[in-house]
Amino acid sequence: MSTSIGKTFNHCTHTAMMLLRKAPSLLLLLLAVALTVSNPISMAAASQDKTSEADALKGFASMHPIDVHVHVFRSGPGFQAMLEEEQLTLLNILVVDDTWAPRNQLQPQIDDAWKLVHSSKGHVFLCTTFDGYKFNSPTFTQDSIRQIDRDFKDGAIGVKIWKTFGMEIKDSAGKYVLPDDPKLQPIFEDIAQHDKTLMAHLAEPDLAWQPLDVKKDPLGQYYIDNPQWHMLNKPGVPSKKAILEARDHILEKNPKLRMVGVHLGSMEMDLDDIARHLDKYPNFAVDTAARMEYLMYGDPAKVRAFLMKYQDRVLYGTDLDMNPDAKIDESVKEWKETYVNDWRFFATDETFQVEGRKVRGLKLPKEVLQKIYRTNAQHWVKGL
Ligand SMILES: [Zn+2]
Repeated sequence: MSTSIGKTFNHCTHTAMMLLRKAPSLLLLLLAVALTVSNPISMAAASQDKTSEADALKGFASMHPIDVHVHVFRSGPGFQAMLEEEQLTLLNILVVDDTWAPRNQLQPQIDDAWKLVHSSKGHVFLCTTFDGYKFNSPTFTQDSIRQIDRDFKDGAIGVKIWKTFGMEIKDSAGKYVLPDDPKLQPIFEDIAQHDKTLMAHLAEPDLAWQPLDVKKDPLGQYYIDNPQWHMLNKPGVPSKKAILEARDHILEKNPKLRMVGVHLGSMEMDLDDIARHLDKYPNFAVDTAARMEYLMYGDPAKVRAFLMKYQDRVLYGTDLDMNPDAKIDESVKEWKETYVNDWRFFATDETFQVEGRKVRGLKLPKEVLQKIYRTNAQHWVKGL
């Protein structure tokens, strides 16, 4: 994954994780502020024996893991072999993005995604989406529902809503459309009625609303490279708080709708805030996609206590991708590296390096690993 920084920035979730790799010292500072180190649990002495990559992958495979957040545009024998070796199931998530050609049209993505699903021997499932750029069409709501229902009928098991709502799409009066807009409500009702799951990537890391100074703040480079997602000084732009409150309105208004807030629900700097949301909204869970570093670089006792307490509410996801121009063997290597590091973090008590930073494994109990790696995904995204 480390070599895919540029690709990931260019289209997908512009992952804060990637940004953080460019600014680890800033991250630590932010985490020190965000994570109050008050938990008295002390970690057991770290094991000196390092789990080999092969053993880590063996442990990972023993979970029959489900990665609920990937973006796969192509497959091949090497990729399929990895899925089979690791006993791995993927939820492939579609996004319509008008800034990246492979993603700017929805239907060709759906067609390609079904080919992948059908060739995967049961290893890949589809999370469809709807085209937010058609918001101002008078038939937007009914067209979206018709397409989503068709995709459900074909086997899709979830629907993605993307950060374009709140950060890009405007109504015909030029006002930014928040994700709780009344035109979207029937779509949420439809998803709930079909017992499917809404995968919600709404808002961004805080920096998207703050001044950028690359000399002081290398995290800003992503927003300089991708100014469409830098919200500061854009007239009429909603605050991050307003977007997340709109997200919360959806949860309140649709208690039967299962929502997975991807990327730790965009609350990655504050585990307490995530906890408050999980307490308040029983229909809400989060995935770890592209935000594992926030957990890895946090206070291990606090992160472990959080995962123990909310062990039924956290789904394992990575945001790994396989782009149309990817070299499959190189990408497979990156995928495996990610799975190895994440396994060491969750399952062992080893101390190891991630991007030059020391990370201490949490050694979660086996039954908790089984939930995070598999059964929570099955509970929250029916059909996996
Ligand atoms: Zn993603």
